[in-house]
Amino acid sequence: MNISLVLQMAADTFADRIALTHNSVDYNYGRLYASAKAAAARIVESGASYVSYLGESNPATVVALFGAALAGRPFAPLNYRLTVPETNRLIERLDPVFLIADEDKLATIPTGAAQVVMSAAKFLATVITDQQSDWEAPEDEEGVAVQLFTSGTTGEPKAALLRNQNLLSYVLGTVEFGSAEEDEATLVSVPPYHIAGISAILSSIYATRRIVQLPQFSPVEWLKQCAEQRVTNAFVVPTMLTRIIGHLDEARTVPDLGALRSLAFGGGKMPLPVVQRALHLFPHVAFTNAYGLTETSSTIALLGPDEHREAHEHPDPMIARRLDSVGKPLPTVEVEIRDESGKVLGPNELGEVFVRGPQVSGEYQGRKLTDAQGWFPTRDSGFLDADGFLFLAGRIDDVIVRGGENISPGEVEKVLREREGVADVAVVGVPSVEWGETLAAAIVRTPGAGLTTEALQDHVRRKLRSSRVPEHIRFVDALPYNEMGKLLRRNVKAMFAG
Ligand code: ATP
Repeated sequence: MNISLVLQMAADTFADRIALTHNSVDYNYGRLYASAKAAAARIVESGASYVSYLGESNPATVVALFGAALAGRPFAPLNYRLTVPETNRLIERLDPVFLIADEDKLATIPTGAAQVVMSAAKFLATVITDQQSDWEAPEDEEGVAVQLFTSGTTGEPKAALLRNQNLLSYVLGTVEFGSAEEDEATLVSVPPYHIAGISAILSSIYATRRIVQLPQFSPVEWLKQCAEQRVTNAFVVPTMLTRIIGHLDEARTVPDLGALRSLAFGGGKMPLPVVQRALHLFPHVAFTNAYGLTETSSTIALLGPDEHREAHEHPDPMIARRLDSVGKPLPTVEVEIRDESGKVLGPNELGEVFVRGPQVSGEYQGRKLTDAQGWFPTRDSGFLDADGFLFLAGRIDDVIVRGGENISPGEVEKVLREREGVADVAVVGVPSVEWGETLAAAIVRTPGAGLTTEALQDHVRRKLRSSRVPEHIRFVDALPYNEMGKLLRRNVKAMFAG
């Protein structure tokens, strides 16, 4: 079995159903499958070992993903925001490659770097067909279906390998085949080089839901697509939801979101005030917080719609606090919390989150991070409560060591965020002669808020012990996020340099 099974089943059963809408053009399941088979034949003929995609979301992305699977080649999409030298270094690692790229990228690809280089538009025009060939997918459960490069914050990007069986276990374990009603549409606003973009395509197609692609996110465009395309399901990263809500709070006219039934978010920590506001603004929407990593083929734990509503304003604080959790592990995923010596910890004890399950790859090119029993260290710190809800406290590598004491920036950020006038906040460790490292906070004020350093330090002092009070506070216009909404802590640290 291979991930093309997802499309094959949809095409066999619902050939005429619309699978994808892009720029108001519809593609049905039969056509997508026939075109992916035609693409597979071209890929194999080219002699390439990889299929890569350097561009924004487009129907060609979906055809290339399944074309690669049907050809038995890893699909290795590239981040189109990297610099030209960074991109070219990655292309070199994919030798020999069948490369599909946005028109404006073609000129930057060195001659001879790939077996085949084609623009996304030309690729689509070459392979698009309604004629079903008898091309068959190879039997390669163990084969690599998708290879994703990490963002490379600590050196050259690592190539995370997701095998067919990893991705299929995730999709088949979480989605019921053909379960979507005929009017259901998913808005995909995350890029194809991210695991969330890949899993959104696979899950929507297996559910036989129509995909609506939004290549460039903006709150205005997102809301417009939701209204015009009658979007029922969407996935966003936390900064996207923050921006959507910010926009709605200021907008004079609110677009019709009446069709929206389900909104999932993940990929980073969702600030509690944002989710509270969202629950209030969209009472008819089912919210899901999904926690996952590239190396785990996306979601491993989730806080579902009923749990969101139950926790929202629940009088029992132990239930109310679940709104800040990532819910419970999926049925096929096991989670353990361990201390530094590897000892498994009990309820409410903070340690490193380890996961195990068929969707967990934990594998990079040339290196596997799972242990002999299949456990993968996530490098996230967190705890499970007595009812099995998973709470995350931040990434272990972001922990600040102040005078030997470990401080999670998230703990201090949460308290600062509660203070009126704080629109956004990031806490990092900066060098200190006295403590080794000490706390520094970058703060974005809401317009008109007259906050001072002393007022913020007092606020933290009232809620947390003195070691948590940021020694340095800087007011900034905006915090540095990457395109997936991840805070770039190294750039925040740079704000305090000198
Ligand atoms: P790189 O590894 O290259 O730095 P990355 O960290 O962005 O890139 P991902 O695999 O996309 O790589 O991110 C996974 C991390 O995102 C998790 O380890 C966790 O810290 C965070 N995360 C994901 N989903 C959630 C969520 N729902 N709530 C809180 N944090 C989350």
